[in-house]
Amino acid sequence: MIHMTPPPPASNSSEPLRISCVVPAYNESAHIASFLRDLQKTLEQITATYEIIVINDGSRDNTDAAVTSVAAECGVRYLGLSRNFGKEAALSAGIEYAQGDAVILIDADYQHPLALLPEMVKLWQSGYDMVYGVIADRGHESPFKRWGTSLFYGIMESGSSIKIPRNAGDFRLMDRRVVDALRQLPERNRFMKGLYAWVGFKSAALPFVPLDRATGESSFTFRSLGKLALAGVTAFTTLPLKVWSAVGGVISLISILYAIGIAVRTLIFGNPVPGWTTLTVGLMFFSGIQLFSIGVLGEYLGHVYEEVKRRPLFLVDQDLDHGRLNPPSSSTDQRWCNFPH
Ligand code: UDP
Ligand code: MG
Repeated sequence: MIHMTPPPPASNSSEPLRISCVVPAYNESAHIASFLRDLQKTLEQITATYEIIVINDGSRDNTDAAVTSVAAECGVRYLGLSRNFGKEAALSAGIEYAQGDAVILIDADYQHPLALLPEMVKLWQSGYDMVYGVIADRGHESPFKRWGTSLFYGIMESGSSIKIPRNAGDFRLMDRRVVDALRQLPERNRFMKGLYAWVGFKSAALPFVPLDRATGESSFTFRSLGKLALAGVTAFTTLPLKVWSAVGGVISLISILYAIGIAVRTLIFGNPVPGWTTLTVGLMFFSGIQLFSIGVLGEYLGHVYEEVKRRPLFLVDQDLDHGRLNPPSSSTDQRWCNFPH
């Protein structure tokens, strides 16, 4: 286990632990009932006061029926979103509704080992505000995906003052203080990995090896991973905007040197009108660069547009509460995005 900061003093452990577990689910009907039973068994060993918040993120299969059939038995609060909003929004919904003093985020497909939950909770009790899982072995991923991941972290590290831990995902435990801090962040672009790092707090890393997906395929294709990475880059660094000043400067310098070279050559050898190829190649190259840099501007502008629209992050269509948090804490103030019935 890697500790990021020295362990702070242990918290008062006489109070019952109140834990919320947030499970985003998109087309997980084949295994979610058994997953919730296993998760419940694990939680029962830790505390009697817990809630499992399942966010059905607009699944097209029978995830809703599979979850509601075990909801009472497993202490589930079921939130059905009005459509598929994506994992980041589903997690935001869970974080918004969670009432526990600690909130654990875990995938519904068994990839995040349940066996680690007791250790996460122990670290939280010892005083850490955030305990995040770090993928210890990416050996099962394709070389292309590993290269893409490392490129992404490279850009983030050189362009952002926020240090996003490499290979840390959404599998994590957060103290109520962290959850409340996250709830205060107003942005619509919820690049969660960046937001967890932005809020800070005392954190510990817990290495783990992801297990195989229980059934089905990952919802994240190369395209959606690319979009997520772009959302992260544009949300946390302006490096892609700034780089064009440097590129423009270097190109101007080269063109001045080139102009001097041509002038000298013309003076010495006269002008036999060469340079057609240079002209065409130069024209195409620089139009390409200009369009590319306008595209980068467009990416940022698009995100600014998304932010100013201030649309809700998610809409809750169904809310069924069988959580076992007793006594429930005073209900949270205003919910961002509840669906008005
Ligand atoms: N998920 C979601 N909404 C989506 C896509 C995925 O809530 O639009 C959930 C999914 O059900 C799972 C978790 O997010 O619990 C991780 O998704 P997945 O296993 O497809 O991705 P990967 O493990 O490759 O990151
Ligand atoms: Mg998965």
